[in-house]
Amino acid sequence: MRVIFLGPPGVGKGTQADFVAEKYGIPKLSTGDLLRESVANGTSLGTEAKGYMNRGELVPDAVVIGLVEEKLGSPDCQKGFLLDGFPRTVTQADQLSTYLTSRGEALDQVVYFSLSKDEIVRRISGRRSCPDCKAVYHLESVPPKREGLCDSCEKALIQRSDDKPETIESRLAVYQEQTAPLIEYYKAQNILGELNGAGSVSTVQDRLVALLGQPRVE
Ligand code: AMP
Repeated sequence: MRVIFLGPPGVGKGTQADFVAEKYGIPKLSTGDLLRESVANGTSLGTEAKGYMNRGELVPDAVVIGLVEEKLGSPDCQKGFLLDGFPRTVTQADQLSTYLTSRGEALDQVVYFSLSKDEIVRRISGRRSCPDCKAVYHLESVPPKREGLCDSCEKALIQRSDDKPETIESRLAVYQEQTAPLIEYYKAQNILGELNGAGSVSTVQDRLVALLGQPRVE
């Protein structure tokens, strides 16, 4: 299964991507996670990406495309993959399509997560994560058992620098301008499925399984 998760920041793609990757036995590739890892490791790619990320802008296409193609070329992506947060521009989508076609592959489905702006802002501002195991919490809806500490590694939870209120608006504007056109792009290819991202994590999981179908037993 080759799937893309499309939608604005804070809509729940990352949380649901972990669920789908496990349930359907496919690797999850999150460009946001890969870029944050590069920043944390101080690689040259990370150094280049950091400023864009902190400003809530997109990292240049060439950088992200190179990163994704390298990962998609690995053996564990041969049978399928889930892309979370990529593509984010029409150029990225075109490049992905060229890359897959060159390998005789095609996308099965693009899941478009929709949610009201108020709820997106509420979710992003309350989001906290563990710097160690990357577990994600929400101050109100998914609080850790002990305030401010990760349930599994007990590290102090942090707020992503680009989740601060001053950056949220610019990320949403960037999404509208550069990523939202992909809704029509994939609709025209008849592979877009819309998913209502409102409600609890398990409610959205049920909707996702209804959309993607039960995993095939091999
Ligand atoms: P995310 O974790 O998906 O919200 O991504 C965090 C940040 O990483 C974004 O605001 C961008 O700066 C950068 N980023 C992630 N994915 C992409 C992409 N496909 N293209 C360009 N920049 C990206």
